[in-house]
Amino acid sequence: MTNPDYETLFEFLQYPLETTKPLIERFASLPGAIARGSGEQSFVYRPGERKDRVLLVAHADTVWDCDPDHSSSFPPSRFIKRDGVLHSDNGEGRGLGADDRAGCAILWEFRQFGHSLLVVSGEETGQVGSTFLMKSNPDIADEINGTHGFMIELDRRNELDYKCYEVGSRHFRRYLASSLRGFSEPDRNSCTDICTLCRDICGVNLSVGYRYEHTANEILVLEHWINSIETLWSWIIPSGLPRFPIPNRLPPEAITLVGECS
Ligand SMILES: [Zn+2]
Repeated sequence: MTNPDYETLFEFLQYPLETTKPLIERFASLPGAIARGSGEQSFVYRPGERKDRVLLVAHADTVWDCDPDHSSSFPPSRFIKRDGVLHSDNGEGRGLGADDRAGCAILWEFRQFGHSLLVVSGEETGQVGSTFLMKSNPDIADEINGTHGFMIELDRRNELDYKCYEVGSRHFRRYLASSLRGFSEPDRNSCTDICTLCRDICGVNLSVGYRYEHTANEILVLEHWINSIETLWSWIIPSGLPRFPIPNRLPPEAITLVGECS
């Protein structure tokens, strides 16, 4: 792992932009993997076995996904490598798909270290896959929130950003600041899958090295992708990872309106 495998990354970037099918099937082939749903409303969850496991999250779809039913086959995606940077060679206004195939490739690199993996579809159309998981799969929703210390999504542009949105806490942010050398939180705007998935525990989204996502000019800086792997390696491989509940996120039945207290 100190020598990250570009071959894996290149394989993931060659999956067609238009469908999640081959990528979902790859994760579904892992022993113990649970694949549910279809099209945008689908996910693959592979439980880890470490006691102090965390949940690693990425999304399989791209903004060029036009085949939610997985009914067609498409030619491989193409890219060009120039001075350590990958560029799209797909034409017709289509980018690289590094958002978020670069994140999926990182999950694959970490599949053997006891942490859980979750690959969802439908992120680009409004967290459709993660909403399907939370609303229609209560067993998995309870398991991911109940048996993991926190969630790490690998789906952020740039090199050194971390973002917790509304699913962080003061303690979790302090912990991240000491665990992630050089990383900082630019703001708390926007949302991604962890904003839907983190019901009881905190979550963070980390940079994976892509830029100009959703455009034909999308790039992936290999050194920045590697830096995310090395950061994760020194952070989540050692044992003793803590658990970070989200404070003040009470279940709806436990919430009493102020006027009702007395
Ligand atoms: Zn994304």
